[in-house]
Amino acid sequence: MATVLDGKALAERIRGEVKADVGELGALGLATVLVGEDPASQIYIRRKHEAAGEVGIRALDVRLPEDTSEDELIERVEALNEDDSVDALLVQLPLPPHVDEARVLRALDPTKDVDGLHPWNAGHLFLGRPTLVGATPVGILALLDEYRIPLEGARAVVVGRSDIVGKPVAHLLLQRHATVTICHSRTADLARETLEADVLVVAAGRPQLVTADMVKHGATVVDVGMNRTDAGLVGDVDAAAMDVAGHMTPVPGGVGPMTIACLLRNTVRAARYRRGTLVFPRR
Ligand code: NAD
Repeated sequence: MATVLDGKALAERIRGEVKADVGELGALGLATVLVGEDPASQIYIRRKHEAAGEVGIRALDVRLPEDTSEDELIERVEALNEDDSVDALLVQLPLPPHVDEARVLRALDPTKDVDGLHPWNAGHLFLGRPTLVGATPVGILALLDEYRIPLEGARAVVVGRSDIVGKPVAHLLLQRHATVTICHSRTADLARETLEADVLVVAAGRPQLVTADMVKHGATVVDVGMNRTDAGLVGDVDAAAMDVAGHMTPVPGGVGPMTIACLLRNTVRAARYRRGTLVFPRR
């Protein structure tokens, strides 16, 4: 039976550290922008605001109607860039189809971009000198480190290549000298790849995509998936993989709470950039 990678417990500790940081830094602001009424997005935003409030971060909840134009949205983002009470800023994805997501993300002030989606931050990560990196990948690495999972020389397989999870977590693992394979929906033989993994990170958004027979004995399995099904919230990895893995995250209680805690930690990091106590590499 695998040792459980307890994201809930570690997240609680991180939130305690953030609270102390907030006490030291003074008033901190996190602004979120939500366009439209996507139910899952509304839940995520609510959780982020609750968590910010608990550690004393002032959270500004900007909600715009579904039919907001791309230019209007960019104007709002630019106003938040200029707002001195806002240290950290994120635009909740997905955006409505009429909006060019990439253009909106490019409008973010990179020093406030706590999801790490501005090309400047994504580029620094690509070059192996991370600045602001999204909370989910950062949280996954923190969890692996907490349990001292060896990464150097390990075979790491990431299932999913999204900009918010798959790609950045693969880069963080690469930076830690793992040998990284990225799988996606057109990977020819997924099981052949996952069976090689010492560290397996699954972020595909497909309930129980990875079954126990696709996991190497003793591997570390990080299940990022959050799928709402009739049976409740399930991950991308079948819970039966717990019998094969050496370490594994539960769903819920694994990556989810780490994401929220690391968003707060990223907010502190952004505040330090703005206060000049951390230097943001602008050129
Ligand atoms: P996404 O839809 O943007 O990307 C999914 C990726 O999985 C794609 O790259 C796709 O190629 C790949 N994929 C899809 N089907 C596949 C298959 N059959 N075989 C191999 N690869 C396949 O999703 P995302 O935003 O990266 O999120 C992934 C999952 O993680 C979702 O369930 C999401 O809810 C969850 N998530 C959880 C947290 C958290 O805090 N726990 C944070 C972000 C995302």
